[in-house]
Amino acid sequence: MAAGSTGDKQRHMPSNIPVGPSEDPWTAEELAEVRQQLSDDVASFQRKYQQAQQELNELLTEGSEVTGRDPADVGSSNFERDQEMSLAANARQLFEQSELALKLFDQGDYGTCEVCGQPIGKARLQAFPRATMCVSCKQRRERRS
Ligand SMILES: [Zn+2]
Repeated sequence: MAAGSTGDKQRHMPSNIPVGPSEDPWTAEELAEVRQQLSDDVASFQRKYQQAQQELNELLTEGSEVTGRDPADVGSSNFERDQEMSLAANARQLFEQSELALKLFDQGDYGTCEVCGQPIGKARLQAFPRATMCVSCKQRRERRS
């Protein structure tokens, strides 16, 4: 992939993104990488979501035409439909999460846990650019659900 570093006007990079207690401040390069990753994620999850949604629509259309089909067939197509539905829901969630993180980034509100307000931490954001919660809040929420 071409690195767009030629003669572009320097993009405004928010420099106030917090880091964890033992982490070095963000460099412009690291920020650019995370932002690039986020916008790639938005694009690819959106594509996956639309694709899953389309396949789901096709299944639903087919499903409405199955009068007189073998019950076993209907059962397996219900299964397929459920799978497709959870695939679409999952892709949509990832897409919305990445989109939100990208928006926060551009607003300069990125990197702060949306639950407790503590820094999410650089290492975590580099691994999961779409994270909007710190590790402990995330774990607490997962335990609850
Ligand atoms: Zn938190």
